[in-house]
Amino acid sequence: MKQSLTFIPTLRETPADADVQSHKTLLRAGFVRQNASGVYSYLPLAKRVLTKIEQIIREEMEAINSIELLMPSLQPAELWQESGRWEAYGPELMRLKDRHERDFALGPTHEEVITTLVRDEIKSYKKLPLTLYQIQTKFRDEKRPRFGLLRGREFIMKDAYSFHATRESLDETYEDMYRAYSNIFTRLGLNFRAVIADAGSIGGKGTHEFMVLSKIGEDTIAYSDSSDYAANIEMAEVIAEYKASSAAQKELEKVATPNAKTIEEVSNLLSAETTNCIKSLVFNVDGELVVVLARGDHEINDIKLKNVLGATSVELAEEADIKNLLNCAPGSIGPIKLPVEVKVIADHAIKSIRNGVAGANEDGFHYVNVNPERDFAINSYEDIRFIQEGDLSPDGNGTIKFAEGIEVGHIFKLGTTYSAKMDGTFLDEQGKAQPFIMGCYGIGVSRILAAVAEQFQDDNGFVWPNQVAPYDVHLVPVNLKDETQSQLADELYSILKSYRYDVLFDDRAERPGVKFADADLIGLPIRITVGKKAAEGIVEVKVRATGETFEWAKEEVVDRLSEFFRTNG
Ligand code: ATP
Ligand code: MG
Repeated sequence: MKQSLTFIPTLRETPADADVQSHKTLLRAGFVRQNASGVYSYLPLAKRVLTKIEQIIREEMEAINSIELLMPSLQPAELWQESGRWEAYGPELMRLKDRHERDFALGPTHEEVITTLVRDEIKSYKKLPLTLYQIQTKFRDEKRPRFGLLRGREFIMKDAYSFHATRESLDETYEDMYRAYSNIFTRLGLNFRAVIADAGSIGGKGTHEFMVLSKIGEDTIAYSDSSDYAANIEMAEVIAEYKASSAAQKELEKVATPNAKTIEEVSNLLSAETTNCIKSLVFNVDGELVVVLARGDHEINDIKLKNVLGATSVELAEEADIKNLLNCAPGSIGPIKLPVEVKVIADHAIKSIRNGVAGANEDGFHYVNVNPERDFAINSYEDIRFIQEGDLSPDGNGTIKFAEGIEVGHIFKLGTTYSAKMDGTFLDEQGKAQPFIMGCYGIGVSRILAAVAEQFQDDNGFVWPNQVAPYDVHLVPVNLKDETQSQLADELYSILKSYRYDVLFDDRAERPGVKFADADLIGLPIRITVGKKAAEGIVEVKVRATGETFEWAKEEVVDRLSEFFRTNG
């Protein structure tokens, strides 16, 4: 493609409003432009990268007999009411009305549409299993769209759905997907890890996320330093054993703690270890106020809490609600003498606290010498805290370390969550109606573009891996007015095209400095410069990734290029 004919609006200055490096460079190198918060246009270079990413995904999907289709973005509200998610999905669901005032949503995901499609067409176990996928634009009104393409409100996803007659069949497809996803991310050259994950609002058990390891990742991965255990910190189980000290239980005492509200302030004031303080919080759990206890040095994990309580929504309670319930401020909450109807859930670590410190449900006071069981009762002890670095790995091997990750893929075993609600049944071998057993499998296609961009760049711009680079070769004649250079460049352009290389031909009347800077910024794997030595039939070749330069005779170009692309992925 001639550069003068395409649309690559590169910028000299780094855009000030971009928050991460990948996004800055995507803007600067003329790959994307923002149209609204979290809404982007993919310009021609980005579109080419997307197409290559999609191609890799399609190959790996077809290899496991996952078949492509395309469903609508515009979805009638009735579908979402049937599954119960019209309410449950909350403000992230983009809703609109048609001219007849009928409610619609713009699809954030497609369980509802696919379940009804398959329900209406597949009646017998003989047609199962069936796995279908699409690559399509999704809409989610994210609370905080950010990091450019990484968290958009309109973005591209590959979503696959599988339908089974048996659990075993679902397990097989899940394993296939797991392998296909690993292949996809490996082929993309990404530094990734599969981690145990939370099933979120989609529901169902058995799920992994695929995380690209990156400093800017919004997820924290807890992994073992000596085994292959890795989990999203949201889910990582805590298997610590806590030993209670054998100290004698002292008499419970209420003490004044004016102005001490946080665990740190209280522990300083009373010279108590934070490990011996009880952190008490009130959560709003589907509208019910629940008191939750954890050790002072631990953090409560609201996802675990939500799962333990089988709740749909778990949030810290409003101050006013706390005041209403306990007549104190959030910093003064404690487990002693709570109204009997209030549910109390405690982390396992609480059990072994001896002569500890806790809020008195009275502003300006705390209890000391608090002993669980003796001084207060709870509903149950659960694993509800975040794992910490240094904790024992949940598989019993090694200790936990943390890393940051960008979630690029997610695979779930849904089971019958949707088919049961939406009446999706088939007839089994005995002629009995059974709900489909389902799986669903997502990949963030546009997020991958940003994740690759984040991983593959240096100070001068992108360094695209060969398999997803928008073009293979940047052909740059230094001076097009020079007849010899211009002729050699034209000749090479047509030869390379005939060998099916994707070539970007910089035919612009720009200064060489500008052309070279743009070439580095755009980051194609190979730059071929046609300059002074054109008269001798020699070109200069630069490998973007390593900075190595070579001089190749015109006749060698095709062989050398073929060698480069064969040996570099
Ligand atoms: P996140 O926790 O990052 O919000 P999610 O759990 O909501 O992700 P899924 O519902 O599993 O995501 O969607 C499948 C894939 O789509 C994700 O793994 C991710 O790669 C991608 N994705 C999700 N939300 C966005 C978004 N707002 N912008 C771009 N890609 C997204
Ligand atoms: Mg999300």
